Amino acid sequence: MNPQGIFDVIVIGAGSIGTPAAMYMAQAGLKVLVVDQFASPGQGSNKAAIGGVRATHSDPAKIRLGLQSTKVFSTWQEEHGQDIEWHSGGYCFVAYTEQDEKSLQDLLVIQKSYGLNIDWLDGQAIRELIPAINPLGLRGGTFSPDDGHCSNLLANHAFYLSARQAGAVFHFHETVQAISIHNNRVTGVVTDRGSYQAAIVVNAAGPWAAQVGSMAGLSHPVMPDSHEAGITEPVAPFIGPLIVDIHPGDHSANIYFYQQNTGQFNFCLTPEPHIWGYNCNETSDFLPLVSKRMISLVPRLAKLRVRRTWRGLYPMTPDGSPIIGWADQPDGYLMAIGMCGQGFMFGPGVGSLLTRIITQNELSVQDREILYILRSNRDFIGNEMLK
Ligand SMILES: Cc1cc2nc3c(=O)[nH]c(=O)nc-3n(C[C@H](O)[C@H](O)[C@H](O)COP(=O)(O)OP(=O)(O)OC[C@H]3O[C@@H](n4cnc5c(N)ncnc54)[C@H](O)[C@@H]3O)c2cc1C
Repeated sequence: MNPQGIFDVIVIGAGSIGTPAAMYMAQAGLKVLVVDQFASPGQGSNKAAIGGVRATHSDPAKIRLGLQSTKVFSTWQEEHGQDIEWHSGGYCFVAYTEQDEKSLQDLLVIQKSYGLNIDWLDGQAIRELIPAINPLGLRGGTFSPDDGHCSNLLANHAFYLSARQAGAVFHFHETVQAISIHNNRVTGVVTDRGSYQAAIVVNAAGPWAAQVGSMAGLSHPVMPDSHEAGITEPVAPFIGPLIVDIHPGDHSANIYFYQQNTGQFNFCLTPEPHIWGYNCNETSDFLPLVSKRMISLVPRLAKLRVRRTWRGLYPMTPDGSPIIGWADQPDGYLMAIGMCGQGFMFGPGVGSLLTRIITQNELSVQDREILYILRSNRDFIGNEMLK
C-alpha cells in the first residue's frame, strides 16, 4: 500500500492522553497524525470518566504529573477562553476508621515533600468543610484545596480544537491494524483505510493498548477493568470538595463523588473484585451498592434521583501506575499507556512530557525521575494506594 502521508509522529488514540499529547506536539512544531477508531475525540474511556482531577497521589511520579495537569485544567479558561467547567473544590479523603486515618496521615509525608498543598483536618474541621457529611464515627480526613474537577467531555474537545489549530491532523473512524517496522525501527502504521509514515508511533490506545503493543511484537500488562458511574438530577450546591472513601465496602474497594458546578452529583465505585473485560453494559448491581455507600456518608443524598448510569474501562496495570517512555525496541515506539483510573487527570501532564521526550535532547531531573518510576520494565509489584 502506498503511504498517504508522512508525519513526524503518529499517535494511536484520540483519548484522554492522545488528544492533549497531539496538542503539545503540534504546538512544538511536529507534524502529527492522530488516528482513532471512533467517530470523534474522547469517545473511548475518556467519555466514561467523571472528571476528577487531583495531584493527591501516593507515588512521586503521579504527584508530579497531577500537579502539572491540574495547573493546565485550572487555568484553561483564563488562558484559552473556553469554559471546561473547572471547579477548585479540592479533594477530601475521609477516614472513619483508625486504619484509614493512619494510612492517609502516613501519605502526607511524601505528598508534602513533593510540594502538594494538603493537610489533615480533624472531624470537626471536616464537618465545617462539608456540613452535610455524616458525623458519626468521623475521625477526620485529608483536604487538598487545589485539586478539583471539570468536564472531561469539554476538556478533551478543547484540547482537540487547540491541537487542530496548531496543525495536528485527526483521522476518525479509522483503525490501526499494523505498526510498520523496518530494521527494528518503527516506520509508520497501516490502518483499515491506508498507510502512513512516521519515525515515531505513540501508543495512546487506552484499554486497547495491549492489542496495539502486540502489533509491535510487545506484550503490555494493560487490562480493561470495567467500572460504573452515574449522575443525578441537579440540586442547589451544598458540597464543595470531591469526596473519596477508600474504606472497602460491600463488593467495592472505594467510592468517590462530587457535585458539579451545574448541581448534579457524579459518582463512581471501584468494584471488588475487579471485573475484567470489554463489556460496557450497565449492571443492576451498581446503583444499590453505590447509593448505599453515598447515603451513609452524606445522608441528605437519600432523596436525590439518579438520571443515568454508565460503564466504562480503566486501562489497568498490575501495580496501578501508568507505563510511559520509549520501548527498548523497536526504535521510535513510545508508550503512554496503563493510565488506570487517572488518565483524564494526567492528560496534559503526560502530553507535555511526551513532547519533551521527543523534542529535547536532555530531560530535566524531574522528568527522568517520572520516567524511571513509570518505565515499562519495572517489576510491577508495588501497589499505588490511591489508584
Ligand atoms: C467510570 C469511570 C470513571 C472514571 N473517572 C475518572 C476521573 O474522575 N478522573 C480521571 O482522571 N480518570 C477517570 N477515569 C479513568 C479514565 O477514563 C482513563 O484512565 C482514561 O480515559 C484513559 O485515557 P487513554 O487516553 O489512555 O484512553 P482512551 O481515552 O480510551 O483513549 C484511547 C483511544 O484509543 C483509540 N484506539 C485504541 N485502539 C485503536 C486502534 N487500533 N486504532 C485506532 N484507535 C484506537 C480508542 O478508540 C480510544 O479513543 C474513569 C474511568 C471510568 C471507567
